[in-house]
Amino acid sequence: MTTPIRKIALEEHFGATEPDIVEQSETHFTPQEWPRHRAMLLDIHDERLALMDECAIEKSVLSLLSPGIQSLHDAPRAVDWARRLNDYAAARVAERPDRFAAFAALPMQDPDAATAELRRAVQDLGLVGALVNGFSQVGDAETVVYLDDPRYAGFWATLEELGVPLYLHPRDPLESTSPQYDGHPWLYGSAWAFTVETATHALRLMGSGLFDRHPGLQVILGHLGEVLPWVIWRVEHRLAVAPRGLDVRHGFGHYLRTNFHVTTSGNFRTPALLNTLQEIGADRVLFSADHPFEDMREAATWFDRRELNDADLARIAHGNAERLLGL
Ligand code: ZN
Repeated sequence: MTTPIRKIALEEHFGATEPDIVEQSETHFTPQEWPRHRAMLLDIHDERLALMDECAIEKSVLSLLSPGIQSLHDAPRAVDWARRLNDYAAARVAERPDRFAAFAALPMQDPDAATAELRRAVQDLGLVGALVNGFSQVGDAETVVYLDDPRYAGFWATLEELGVPLYLHPRDPLESTSPQYDGHPWLYGSAWAFTVETATHALRLMGSGLFDRHPGLQVILGHLGEVLPWVIWRVEHRLAVAPRGLDVRHGFGHYLRTNFHVTTSGNFRTPALLNTLQEIGADRVLFSADHPFEDMREAATWFDRRELNDADLARIAHGNAERLLGL
């Protein structure tokens, strides 16, 4: 039997009932599965910690479930809930700072408030960065704003100044703007729509010139980079021929290798990992499970098969996380 590798996990979600946000996740489970997963989202220190022990996960970086704050289109409510949920996360971390850290949830509906909450979360609460679930609904449920919007200029500058990463986590696109999924509800969620939505969002960030203005920014993508490591060469190759108004300093491969990290959350597949390593290198890949939407044991069992060399395994398991998050 192989010895488990000491690991840090970065995409590990929680829910809460005060304010009552946990019910957002019900849609991702069958009625039979939901009560158990609801309990897993609400638990931090009992079954979750026991599972972490079993899987040699030394530390989990907690983040709120998706879409979380991003779907609260009423801005004052988004601001209030983000603040309360970040206080909640910080309090849970404070009970076991040796085993937990947390990313802040942010009310992007109000850019100034989001910037202030980021600063408070990092400087006062000790959170290690932010996790934003894709676009935010702003003002009403049908108005979506992506993170490349000019209103977030001050937010990105603050993120760079604080030296913390932003985890760009998936959410579903709105049905009203997604005719490509009509009649095929299975295309929504983590099987497919999450990936398309998040990869497109990441490309928007690259194409907006964000990383030319702030070359120090670091964005984390889950699921081995939401297919971007597989397609980035072609994206760059085609844009060199047909830029269609694109005006940025570097090819997109440069941004992926300079401004992004990816985690193994929910993509426990060695050929996919090898491709990712070849495109962006072992310094930018980090272990994660995606608890409780994925099985922590499955993630750890796969990783502990040691299908890479020891130096790369150590970086992916914990070394990169320690460096990126200052743990
Ligand atoms: Zn996740």
